[in-house]
Amino acid sequence: MASQEEVFKKLVSHCKEYGFVFPSSEIYDGLAAVYDYGQNGVELKNNIKKYWWDSMVLLHENIVGIDAAIFMHPTTWKASGHVDAFNDPLIDNRDSKKRYRADVLIEEQLAKIEEKINKEVEKARKRFGDAFDEQKFRETNPRVLEHQKHFDELHQRYSDAMNAMDLEMLKQIIVDEEIVCPISGTRNWTDVRQFNLMFSTEMGSTADGTTKIYLRPETAQGIFVNFLNVQKTGRMKIPFGIAQIGKAFRNEIVARQFIFRMREFEQMEMQFFVRPGEEMQWFQHWKEFRLRWHKALGLGDNKYRYHDHEKLAHYANAATDIEFEMPFGFKEVEGIHSRTNFDLSQHAKFSGKKIEYFDPELNQSYTPYVIETSIGVDRMFLSVLSAAYHEEQLDGGDSRVVLKLPPVLAPVKACVMPLVKKDGLPEKAREIVNMLKFDVKTTYDEKDSIGKRYRRQDAVGTPFCITVDHDTLNDNCVTIRYRDDMRQERVPIESLHGIITDAVDMKNLLRKL
Ligand code: ATP
Repeated sequence: MASQEEVFKKLVSHCKEYGFVFPSSEIYDGLAAVYDYGQNGVELKNNIKKYWWDSMVLLHENIVGIDAAIFMHPTTWKASGHVDAFNDPLIDNRDSKKRYRADVLIEEQLAKIEEKINKEVEKARKRFGDAFDEQKFRETNPRVLEHQKHFDELHQRYSDAMNAMDLEMLKQIIVDEEIVCPISGTRNWTDVRQFNLMFSTEMGSTADGTTKIYLRPETAQGIFVNFLNVQKTGRMKIPFGIAQIGKAFRNEIVARQFIFRMREFEQMEMQFFVRPGEEMQWFQHWKEFRLRWHKALGLGDNKYRYHDHEKLAHYANAATDIEFEMPFGFKEVEGIHSRTNFDLSQHAKFSGKKIEYFDPELNQSYTPYVIETSIGVDRMFLSVLSAAYHEEQLDGGDSRVVLKLPPVLAPVKACVMPLVKKDGLPEKAREIVNMLKFDVKTTYDEKDSIGKRYRRQDAVGTPFCITVDHDTLNDNCVTIRYRDDMRQERVPIESLHGIITDAVDMKNLLRKL
């Protein structure tokens, strides 16, 4: 069995080799934590975005979309708190010269302790078999209790330090826990410093007339500043939501792990405006709906978990993450936040405009509360790909790499292949492409043996291969080959359109929500 790290490395090189993801400006050796999506990547990404957009805007009468600009008035970021508080605590190791997020180093330490406890539990489970009482074991085993005590104390110190943003305390925790740099293995740390994650640039042409502006670090603020525009012009009644998909930029300190943490990435965010006091029931609603959205893809229910936040952002009164089991562990893919009326109130204060909603049922005006669902397209892309990537041993000593992508997300839905490049078979195959291409992304391949062509399609996750042979010219039937079980079936050409469009129809997925 390959280690998880090896699997991840293979996935990264697979992404490049098959046109999913390339390092940005690679001919100049790339740009750290910036990536380009290739010919297959862009299709997969667009399908993910469509699934999200349709699940929000198409399925909900009371959710509409917008597309706000990346540049925003600089006061936006003062009001939102990003100028003053969008910081990560960073620390450098003097020997490796590598930079880390102090909070991440401590969280990894907490995860290690948790792992030790879980190992003890698993060992005992094996030893005691059916008679094993896990709860009792956790409450009484001296080694587990010792680890748990360590965990609780560390966790408390860490939460205190983060809530107060006490940088000295964070450093002290790293020293006390004897955390070492994974690269140099030493404890030669600098002090912890604050680092603002926003990119800035100048707008305007003359030296005097320029204004410093930021590249948005989240898409949400474009929704907040348009709250009144959309509410009034769309005659929206609370509760209602505004959805948006767009780029966001963060000058991440630790930008490893491929497209998991990028400096330029894409978010799909929805802000749902509700009556004050009703936010907790809507928070619960969206938490459940979003998990259903993920699970409907069929990547494996056990690959998801919620992670409730203990340290809440300055604006939030409840927050949870949906985590996905990546090749490097459970990681956040999406955040669901109850943001109170913080953002709208702040924008009202900084702009001097009244940003309120008149509720005809209550006959009163108020500043709505907000539930936000915020998911990274790129992280979603990575989770889909890592669940889909399979290396399989086949009969006869052969092997294949196959992306078992949900057909609705696959970049290419069907590939049509003439058995040979002559005798009218290519022409017949082209006819089939022309029949399918209006509904599904279809490709044509006549090069190499059929076996090799199948492997190429497996590697990009094409759910259907269609082979045209000499008999086709007489009986108008073709061989359809299914990606996952490699089953082959002879079917009439007229039935192809129905078989394929039905299997890749977004409606079937949306109906599960
Ligand atoms: P993290 O703790 O991993 O830095 P975050 O909690 O800061 O993430 P949010 O601000 O809640 O993330 O952003 C919402 C979503 O945007 C995340 O769940 C993630 O999917 C995505 N996202 C955030 N930062 C990045 C990034 N640098 N690269 C790719 N996706 C990102």
